Amino acid sequence: MKILVAVKRVVDYNVKVRVKADHSGIDLANIKMSMNPFCEIAVEEAVRLKEKGVATEIVVVSVGSTATQEQLRTALALGADRAILVETNDELNSLAVAKLLKAVVDKEQPQLIITGKQAIDSDNNQTGQMLAALTGYAQGTFASKVEVVGDKANVTREIDGGLQTVALKLPAIVTTDLRLNEPRYASLPNIMKAKKKPLNVLTPDALGVITASTMRILKVEAPAARQAGIKVGSVAELVEKLKNEAKVI
Ligand code: AMP
Repeated sequence: MKILVAVKRVVDYNVKVRVKADHSGIDLANIKMSMNPFCEIAVEEAVRLKEKGVATEIVVVSVGSTATQEQLRTALALGADRAILVETNDELNSLAVAKLLKAVVDKEQPQLIITGKQAIDSDNNQTGQMLAALTGYAQGTFASKVEVVGDKANVTREIDGGLQTVALKLPAIVTTDLRLNEPRYASLPNIMKAKKKPLNVLTPDALGVITASTMRILKVEAPAARQAGIKVGSVAELVEKLKNEAKVI
């Protein structure tokens, strides 16, 4: 079984982002970039399925600039077999990314596609779902457990107030939630080996996908700075302030 894993290059989760002075977006100059954490979980799940003998090949794909090769090499070091970069310098919206991933799915014909549930930069939580709509494949979103049995994937989903298990007919799309697994670190020998694994570069044009956006970002703003808290001397003072100052009780 071939698994296709979609990974996104994002600002590292430890970085405190700054908004550009003209409010057109986030300042990305000299900032640490990493693989989106939910995509690391997606790669890990694919590698575990290969280790169990369920998967035979793992292909990782990313849509992004040349620099995205760095995250693809990381995925190769973690255990993916080969990588595809759909190279573009444009800031694409989810639908454009989903259309490009659909073109890669058409070429590669994977049985299972794993994406993160959400990218931590845009917090869109929609690319996997859009890809499911475009391909017509079944989807198991927010997965905390994936079991492949014959031509089905049983996916346990984290939903409000509990867990739901769905049986998906393959080929299918799974999006990863936090509790699915704990990703491994790449070992130095595997990082070295990853340099020799195949990384194929495609373009949106070569895939015949038009990526023009129907959405324009008008303004990006940092959240308002939090005001300092105060310490109250007694419960009575707290109640008085909640009643008369905050007016919440
Ligand atoms: P989003 O819908 O943007 O929150 O992203 C959800 C998931 O879709 C990510 O975790 C990735 O697996 C995939 N994805 C989003 N953008 C890209 C991209 N540019 N390249 C590859 N995969 C992506």
